[in-house]
Amino acid sequence: MSLTVVGSIAYDTVRTPFGARERMLGGAATHFALAASFFDQVRPVGPVGDDFTDEDLAILATRGTSTDDVERVAGGKTFFWEGEYGWDLNSRETIDTQLNVFETFQPKLSAAARASDVLFLANIQPQLQLDVLEACDGPRFTAMDSMNLWIDIARDDLVKVIERVDCVILNDAELRQLTEKPNLVSAAREVLAWGPSVVVAKQGEYGAALVTPTGFFALPAYPLETVVDPTGAGDSFAGGFVGWLAQNTAGSPTDEALRLAMAYGTAIASYNVEELGTDRVARLTIDEVNERVAEIQALTQFSLEVSV
Ligand code: AMP
Repeated sequence: MSLTVVGSIAYDTVRTPFGARERMLGGAATHFALAASFFDQVRPVGPVGDDFTDEDLAILATRGTSTDDVERVAGGKTFFWEGEYGWDLNSRETIDTQLNVFETFQPKLSAAARASDVLFLANIQPQLQLDVLEACDGPRFTAMDSMNLWIDIARDDLVKVIERVDCVILNDAELRQLTEKPNLVSAAREVLAWGPSVVVAKQGEYGAALVTPTGFFALPAYPLETVVDPTGAGDSFAGGFVGWLAQNTAGSPTDEALRLAMAYGTAIASYNVEELGTDRVARLTIDEVNERVAEIQALTQFSLEVSV
C-alpha cells in the first residue's frame, strides 16, 4: 500500500522570536511526508531545482518515503517561501513566495504513485491538484489542503478539487473565506454539501475540529510549553491524520477512527513545532508518537460522574 502526496517541496526561510534559519528544507509535501511515513510508504510528487541538495533528498526519504516521483529540473530553482512570526505564533506574515519550478511543472506520475490507494493533495496550485487527481487510478480515500492565496486567485479550480475529494483539511479562517459563512459549523456543513464526507478545521494552537454528516468532535492541541517554529504544523497534522487512516482503515473511515486519527495528527504536529523546520520529526520515533497519543487521550477524557 502507498500514499501519494502532491504539494510544495521547498526551501523555507523562517524567523520566530525563538529561532531563525535561512533556506532550510520545508514545504507542505515534505512536512506531510515526514509525518505520514510512520504509517505507510509515502510518494511525494513534485519538482525541485538544481539547488536541492542530496542531504535534503535523504531527509525526504526518511522511514522509507520513495523519492522516485521527485523531479529534479535542470536549470530550475526550488520553490522558496519566507515567513516571519511575532510573539503570537498563531499569526504570521509571508515575506516572500517564489513558485520557481512549480510555475511550469507538469506532473508525470510513476505507475506506483498512480496506483496508490490513498491520495493527499497538499497545498499547491489547485490546477496541479486536479492534474494529480486526474492521473491517479481512483484512490479509495482522497484528502486535500489549500490556503487563502488559492481561494483569492483560483477559487473555481479549488472548488472543482473539493467536489472530488473525501476529506477537506483547512484552517478555520480559510473555511470561512471559502464559503463566505462566518460560522465555522455552517461553513463546514456547506463544504460537506459540495461532496466530501469529512471536514477538518485546523485552529492552530487551539487544536482542530472534525465535522462529518453524523458527528462533531474537537481536539485541543497538545499543551506544549515551548514552541519554536509552527511552520508545517498543519501539514504534519494532515500527515499523521491521513497516514494513520491509510494504515488502519479500509473503506470509509468511521467517526471513531477519524477521532483517533486526529490524536495521531495532533501528536506529530506538536513534535514538529518544538524545533525549527523538519529537525524534530525527522528523528522522531513511533514510540514517542504513541506515548503522546496516550497522553492526549488521558488529558481529554473525563467522566460525567463527579464527586463534589
Ligand atoms: P503550514 O505552516 O502548515 O501552513 O505550511 C508551511 C509550509 O507551506 C512551508 O514549508 C512552505 O514552504 C509552504 N508554503 C507556503 N506558501 C505556499 C504556497 N503558496 N504554496 C505551496 N506551499 C506553500
